[in-house]
Amino acid sequence: MNTTSIPTNTENKKANGISRKDFLSLTGRSVAAVAVAGFASACGAANSISGQSGIKADSPPSKVPSDATKPIVLEEWKSKNDVESAPTPTPLPHNERIGYAIVGLGHLSLEELLPALNSCKKSRLAALVSGSPEKLKKVALQYGVKPESCYSYETYDQIKNNPDVDVIYIVLPNGLHKEYVIRGAKAGKHILCEKPMANSSAECREMIAACNTAGVKLMLAYRIQYQPHNCKVRDMLKQGTLGKTKYIQATNGQASANPDHWRHKKALAGGGALPDIGLYCINTNRFILGQEPTEVFAYQYSTPGDPLFKEVEEMVSWQMKFPDGIIANCITNYDSHDNKDYGVFCEKGWLKLDNAYAYKGQDLKKSHAEGKEKIIENIVIAETDQFAVEMDHFSDCIKNNKRPFSTGEEGLQDHIIMEAVYESARTGKPVKIPAAVDPKLFHGPEPEIS
Ligand code: NAD
Repeated sequence: MNTTSIPTNTENKKANGISRKDFLSLTGRSVAAVAVAGFASACGAANSISGQSGIKADSPPSKVPSDATKPIVLEEWKSKNDVESAPTPTPLPHNERIGYAIVGLGHLSLEELLPALNSCKKSRLAALVSGSPEKLKKVALQYGVKPESCYSYETYDQIKNNPDVDVIYIVLPNGLHKEYVIRGAKAGKHILCEKPMANSSAECREMIAACNTAGVKLMLAYRIQYQPHNCKVRDMLKQGTLGKTKYIQATNGQASANPDHWRHKKALAGGGALPDIGLYCINTNRFILGQEPTEVFAYQYSTPGDPLFKEVEEMVSWQMKFPDGIIANCITNYDSHDNKDYGVFCEKGWLKLDNAYAYKGQDLKKSHAEGKEKIIENIVIAETDQFAVEMDHFSDCIKNNKRPFSTGEEGLQDHIIMEAVYESARTGKPVKIPAAVDPKLFHGPEPEIS
């Protein structure tokens, strides 16, 4: 947002010949001030307060649009030699936000989603679903959820009678997604479902059909598609900044320790490293290239005798062939130190994104040649809360009746690809990806990220 017309200090005001009064009327503050006058007096707000310092407390000039969705523009003080500040947030009043029921109070919900709801602008926490009454009670107290909006898995269907809930967010083990999505759709609520969508493409089809029949929206929680560094890579590839893309190297590895956890049980997880974290390599490659792979070739390995890998695989390495010759080389592992990076190698340079699939810490580098010099640039972009942006996007889709950007069909397509990867690893042969889903269904309109 360009705010260069706003004076920055007394000198500027003198130089520009704009008085504070002129500034305020120029920016429309006086109009907004009339609108908020009643509220300010009700709050006992004062325009200025004199403290012991003898300095008068005052409000520096700002532009306050009457439209609540437009940011307040504060008096500028930074030089254009520094990075511009982001616009001030424009949160909706609490009662206008979309209400979310969070289903499953495990790591993702407690560590990321509930805190993220506090930084949302269009979304609010409305209900909780858990199998543990103690956890329910504690979390409800912490986040101010009414006891009547707390459900067990048995009473889950009663959520249909709760007008406070617009969206059900499924954050359960993968093998339970289908049941809880279908029950949620039957309760007439819109559905946000964690990745991977389910345990198989057949389950995904049932989930899509159930949401269509119930007339509710279904969004897949592919947070990377709302993450600014990954979006920047996609945009640069689209613009052809570095010429044609030739190949991609993508890795998603982390270390597991608990063989009793659901992630190591086939029925609850659907598979091992591939559907849990390898999926990011598949989905992000599709996202940044804007293309669908036509063929895969894969290897799979699990350390013999390791109890972690009795039911699910440890490692999968696979290649995806894209229509115009791009090859993506991917590897995922459940027993190696954290590594979540990719590189995109093009005719005239490369882009490397460290922590590409992590919750934060993305580090984007770009390389190209100029004569005898190899120029490596660090592209620094302000971090966002990916979960808050993702939930606000879904809320926006509901408020404005739009199709979500990451749809159920997008989740289904990843399962079709994963099934081909497993088949290739099993047979030792390349496997073609069937064109089973209309690519137009993968994405709704581009999200407006504010
Ligand atoms: P978790 O094990 O920490 O939490 C799962 C919750 O489900 C727990 O509260 C558990 O009590 C409950 N549950 C209900 N029935 C269960 C059963 N039969 N067995 C085991 N647990 C049961 O898992 P998590 O890491 O929060 O993952 C939940 C979902 O979120 C998964 O689908 C996972 O893939 C996804 N996830 C997504 C991201 C992301 O970045 N988008 C990150 C982590 C997890």
